[in-house]
Amino acid sequence: MPDRFSTALQDKLSKRLAYYDDIGIRSFYRNRFFVRAAPVLEQAPVSIPNTQEEPLPKTSPKPILTPAASITVPPKVSVLPMAPKVSLFDALNKVTDDSLLKIREDLGECTRCKLHTTRNKIVFGDGSAKADLVFVGEGPGRDEDAQGLPFVGRAGKLLTQMIEAMGLKRKDVYICNVVKCRPPENRLPEPDEIKTCSPYLLRQLDAIDPKVIVCLGACSAQTLLETNRGISHFRGQWLDFRGRQLMATYHPAYLLRNPAAKADVWKDLQKVMAVLGLEVKKGKSAGTQNPA
Ligand code: URA
Repeated sequence: MPDRFSTALQDKLSKRLAYYDDIGIRSFYRNRFFVRAAPVLEQAPVSIPNTQEEPLPKTSPKPILTPAASITVPPKVSVLPMAPKVSLFDALNKVTDDSLLKIREDLGECTRCKLHTTRNKIVFGDGSAKADLVFVGEGPGRDEDAQGLPFVGRAGKLLTQMIEAMGLKRKDVYICNVVKCRPPENRLPEPDEIKTCSPYLLRQLDAIDPKVIVCLGACSAQTLLETNRGISHFRGQWLDFRGRQLMATYHPAYLLRNPAAKADVWKDLQKVMAVLGLEVKKGKSAGTQNPA
């Protein structure tokens, strides 16, 4: 056994361990984390409610205009302990008068990382430039790479159902990814690719200035929160991302493989709805119950 693994190998191992952790395999190492598992792990899974079964209070205000007024249920926002390293984001200067258009122009026909050699189309992002809610995924898959749009494949259809179950349409929210080009064979984006691409994601988030960011899956959550901890340790909790409220939940592709986790995701989305002042619409299904 070597005394020390390369940074790339360490990163791969830690991602792999986080994945095992997410699917409940935790017996490789003792004391891997300093903090106890989040209480949400101890909650028994419940079946996915539909909106008739669990309506939000009828008094929920309309979506908010100012942060204070808009929060129906003031969430307790935690700050996740950061990895002791230089932040990906600290060195980035804010671009004044930034806009999605400007960011897209700056990105150009990007060749900054190796993903450009295998991609077909850059998948910049899609939706409202003024969205209160931004979903951040991992990276484009085959369908997204072909169409140049995020979340249009099977996982995307499930995401659309989830958005509609929240009483929203895709055009009301903004959807983007950590990396804008498809990793070959849908592998995880590598650290150098994330480092190169994430400044553009950060600019998108700053330009849109949403009230809530929902991270879909470990890659997105770990990138924005700059942590290697498994997503199940902080999923469903309100976290701070540079002064904004961030909720990490499972990736729709994970839900396609593990439908039992949909109940947890629906609970997370209901928390988001409460913060955005969205009412659960009567007679609508959660949409996550029976994905195609
Ligand atoms: N998975 C992602 O993370 N992003 C997409 O755009 C599609 C699938």
